[in-house]
Amino acid sequence: MARSLSVPSLPAAVSVREVGPRDGLQNEPEVIATVEKVALIEALAATGVARIEVSSFVSPRRIPQLADAEEVLSAAAIPVGVLVSVLVPNRRGLERALALRERGEGRIDQVTVFLSASETHNRKNVNAPVAASLAAVSSVIEASRSEGLRCEGVISTAFGCPYEGHVDPRSVLAIARHLVDAGAQEVALADTTGMANPRQVQSLFVAAREALGGEVELTAHFHNTRGAGLANVLGALQVGIDSFESSVGELGGCPVPPGATGNIASEDLVSMLSELDIRTGVDLDALIACAARAQELLGRPLGSHLLRAGPVRWVPEEL
Ligand code: ZN
Repeated sequence: MARSLSVPSLPAAVSVREVGPRDGLQNEPEVIATVEKVALIEALAATGVARIEVSSFVSPRRIPQLADAEEVLSAAAIPVGVLVSVLVPNRRGLERALALRERGEGRIDQVTVFLSASETHNRKNVNAPVAASLAAVSSVIEASRSEGLRCEGVISTAFGCPYEGHVDPRSVLAIARHLVDAGAQEVALADTTGMANPRQVQSLFVAAREALGGEVELTAHFHNTRGAGLANVLGALQVGIDSFESSVGELGGCPVPPGATGNIASEDLVSMLSELDIRTGVDLDALIACAARAQELLGRPLGSHLLRAGPVRWVPEEL
């Protein structure tokens, strides 16, 4: 019997959110000089990405790589059309962000909060039970919204936990609902340690869309730990997801467990999207130049494929 195959339609345009300066550099052992970081952020912001996660207001003792959050935000010149987001782990972090804004020393458009869907990962990452984290980040969301900031809630280990294995989709959806009720306009489902597969991605995003309604922006945040990052992107595109977080050069990882590798590389993502005829507004060559700069700064090869192979050129450059 002949089977009919249909080609799923994909979004015409996708929003690419660069998280390298925060999610990336936070998890790389080297501390990059502030001036170099600012130059990299400005170059990334000029590539056409929709949003850039510039830094984190986490305790400098905990993450010395991002101890210069204030200096970076004050110094970086970011075009008005590019949304500036910062990670805020708690009320203390929000106070620092608001104080900076009050002094007129930096633009912040969005606050990103996070917690893990799995109890063990959350305890190892932030030393608190999920319920306590949920209450804490909800209070940050409420306070941020009342200050006119956009809010994104990131749910880590949404697709699997390296300590607990399977993560119940119902607990992910319950956390997402809670974040939205607190005021989050966007929810990112994050595969923090690279355990997701495309089928699982599709079922969780479809369920999240149904549970949260059409108003909430749903974002996919994939790590390439087991090489499935771009396959998961395609899975998400096929169910209509059009917002992705990625990291230049494939920078990053996760503090726990050790060895978790980086986010999908922004240039690998943009290259695939452009080959699929999906608009991103990002200049791929400029993005690859940023990845090359990041690699130079860290002084060792990064995981990005485009950095090694270059973009697809359908017309040979020389015969
Ligand atoms: Zn990440």
